[in-house]
This record gives sequence, structure tokens and C-alpha cells, in this order.
Amino acid sequence: MMSPSEQRPAPPTDAAQPVANDACPLTLVSVHDLMPATMPAVRRTLDLLRRHRVHPVTLLVVPGTGWNAQGIDELRALQRAGHVLAGHGWEHRAERIRGLRHRLHSLFLSRNVAEHLALDADGVLALMRRCRDWFEQHDLTSPSLYVPPAWALGGVSAAALREASLFRQVEVFGGVLDTHTGASVHVPVLGYEADAAVRVPVLRLWNALSRRRAVQAGCVRIGIHPQDIDHPLRADLVADLKRYRRFASYSALLDGAAAAPEGRRLTEIGRRLDPSR
Ligand SMILES: [Zn+2]
Repeated sequence: MMSPSEQRPAPPTDAAQPVANDACPLTLVSVHDLMPATMPAVRRTLDLLRRHRVHPVTLLVVPGTGWNAQGIDELRALQRAGHVLAGHGWEHRAERIRGLRHRLHSLFLSRNVAEHLALDADGVLALMRRCRDWFEQHDLTSPSLYVPPAWALGGVSAAALREASLFRQVEVFGGVLDTHTGASVHVPVLGYEADAAVRVPVLRLWNALSRRRAVQAGCVRIGIHPQDIDHPLRADLVADLKRYRRFASYSALLDGAAAAPEGRRLTEIGRRLDPSR
């Protein structure tokens, strides 16, 4: 059954031009916030991605949210189906708001989900280790990618991440860090989390800028939240899935598959984008 919104899609902001050759930016598609409570919406999102033949898809799993044996079985099945699981925080909510910067980040960007920002460097690494161990304890493939909630990594250095050797890649707002080498690749991000009317024009402007940057960067991230397909930017998301067809997993960045003229060190990305610094 098609939902009413699918039968009458709202027109996207600009016409999609499908490209699937090497001129098309490498396209990293992720679904955020897999938790038991969001799985019904995640399944509908994966149905939509399947219909548009989007593969591979990276799934950002939040371990500390009450998974039971059946839920973990479903994650294993998703992995067998070729989806890539990544770690995404522990509980996906901050226990407390620490400091003015975190308070502002919380108000304007992350609500209360940026759980790293309430922690010091040791606390961040302990949380990441707990996240990684959970996958191993439940016979899931150990993820090579970690995405901090709200892309807010907090006050942990690239050197500390390399030494801890927990995840090969860490995604932040501006791009993706290779923790082995300390190099990071700038990857423009498209988002559709228009859960309030005021966010619609802001996200459309942001996405228009990101599409332009994607041409130069040679790669683009399409970050989908579970409720996005019920939000006003659903048609924009579908248009982008038709426009960008050179799908890859994040590990393709390690192979240099994306032209990355704007590759920068994490410290530079962190200074510009991480509000905890
Ligand atoms: Zn999230």
C-alpha cells in the first residue's frame, strides 16, 4: 500500500537530474537513530530506500535503548541483508547540560541528544568503548564507523582517538575522520529533519549549499532520520536519492574513492564545527 503522501508527492525545490557516472559525487546514505522505539519508522524508511534501489545503507544504532533478543535478531538480519551497522552514542541523550556552549548547541541544534558534550575526554572514550563492546557482545559485526549523536564529538583529540583504536572512522558534522591517520575528508551533508515548520526553509537553504559543495568535494552524505519520510522534506529526500546514484559505504572514503580536494585535518574541522571546543 502506498501512503497518501506518496501518491501525491509535494514538488521538490529543484528538479532532480539523475547522474550515475564518475561525475556523480560518491553518495553515503545513512539512517540515524535505530532504537527499539524508532524501528517501525526505520522499517518504512528502509522500504522506501529499497524501492529506490539505494544500496548500501549505513544504519546508526543506539545500543543503550532497551534492545531485546528479537530486536537484536532484526539487526543481525539487516546486517546479513548487506546493510552496514555503525555505532551512534549510547543512550542518545545527554544526562546533563554542561556549560554555555553545550546549552546553546542544545537549544539551536541538538535539543538534548548530544550526549558527548556533557563528558570529558575520558568519558567520551568510555562511552565509545561501551558502544563498540555492545556489538561484539551481541554477535554483531564490530562497526568500523562511529557517529556521535548530533555529530557532536566533544573534547576528545584525534590523537586520543587513534590511541584508543575503537573505530576506524568517526563522522562529525563537517566530514569523516580516519582515526588511524588523523586525516579527515570534508563531505557535505544533506538533512531532512523538518520536524518544525521553521526548519523547512533553513534546511532547504542548507541543502542547496551542500549540493553545490558536493560537486567540488566529490562526495555527499544523505543523512536520514526515521521520521523524515513523514515530514515536509520527504519529496526533497526522494529527489536527492534519484539525483545521487553512486552509492557507497563510508569505508569507500578510506580507499580514496572520493575526490577529496578539501580533505582537512580533524582539528580544523573540529575548531569550525564542534561547539564544545
Ligand atoms: Zn542521532
